[in-house]
Amino acid sequence: MTRFNSVVLDVDSTLSGVEGIDWLASLRGAEVEAWSNSLTARAMDGLIPIEAVYRERMSLVKPTLFEIQALSAVYIDRVAVGAREALAELRENDVELVMVSGGLREAILPLAKELGVGEERVHAVSVFFGRDGEYTGFDERSLMTRQNGKRATVKEMDLKGPVLAVGDGMTDCDIRPVVDGFAAFTGFMKRDPVVERADYVIENFDQLRALVLE
Ligand SMILES: [Mg+2]
Repeated sequence: MTRFNSVVLDVDSTLSGVEGIDWLASLRGAEVEAWSNSLTARAMDGLIPIEAVYRERMSLVKPTLFEIQALSAVYIDRVAVGAREALAELRENDVELVMVSGGLREAILPLAKELGVGEERVHAVSVFFGRDGEYTGFDERSLMTRQNGKRATVKEMDLKGPVLAVGDGMTDCDIRPVVDGFAAFTGFMKRDPVVERADYVIENFDQLRALVLE
């Protein structure tokens, strides 16, 4: 018996200590990085809706395939301490794991593979490239670029309950009405409005393992 049968995991600043789009923005210089950081922080604190900033950031950052591959390596480098072990144990206990991210899918897939989460369980925003790896756009229809997109996506998945959602941001917290519990993850970022609305507060993956299994 486990306390939760499915766990919905955020990626940026939860499974890995990086905000992918901000990292890509940092390649465009300090000014673009600072601008992107402030938009991300305000969106994750719930001060501005995510759809207001997504297109704007991508049209300025325009990541190439090569840069997305470099970001994939960063995601793996900065994986949360204990996440590999905790997720392996959850899988052994037949807990279903899904990754739901407002980040870029192609950058996240290698991390998912590393953590044993199948591609079909990774919900994020696809990015498109031309023949030479140049940026041509992102999936603007993706629900994940919208404020309630994570909630709508999780609802559609019809996961085996009880379901726990885990993340550091307001878009994760917004999943709460369609799941059985929300855990604020504070291992990388502690956002007070998210912590205040959470059912649980965890700062590492050992605590997640205990919350789900014990
Ligand atoms: Mg996050």
